[in-house]
Amino acid sequence: MYYGAYYSVDVINGPGTRATLFVSGCIHQCRGCYNQSTWNPKSGKVFDADMEQQIIDDLNDTRIKRRGLSLSGGDPLLPSNLPGITKLVDRVRSECPDKDIWLWSGYLLEELSKEQQQLIDKVDVLIDGKFDENLADPSLSFRGSSNQIIHRIL
Ligand code: SF4
Repeated sequence: MYYGAYYSVDVINGPGTRATLFVSGCIHQCRGCYNQSTWNPKSGKVFDADMEQQIIDDLNDTRIKRRGLSLSGGDPLLPSNLPGITKLVDRVRSECPDKDIWLWSGYLLEELSKEQQQLIDKVDVLIDGKFDENLADPSLSFRGSSNQIIHRIL
């Protein structure tokens, strides 16, 4: 898995103060996408063991208290990203039990594969659906267009 950016302290992508990872790779090709540089699954940097550990350490850092982890992209549910994201989510669940996990995907909840659904069953919130520039609304919280739905999973 590759990632385009990691913000160890982020107050934009999700509620409260968070750590946010933008993974690489997306097939949805939404018109008006704000993050086209992440479409290529091998753009950015390799998501290695050090980066994974950095996220765990940041979430457990008591000097700057984070509410949770945001996973965006690109698309964290791109099939080739599932092994890396699942490993990270499993670690956050076991090693940072008081943190929430929000995940943004261009796939719709009702069209997820079994493997994608198994991952989503472990996150607190899924914001699903492609960005639709005709329904774009900057006043919306946590989503770019009104067709996207905030699903509370856990
Ligand atoms: S799902 Fe997100 S990253 Fe992918 S094309 Fe659409 S807006 Fe861009």
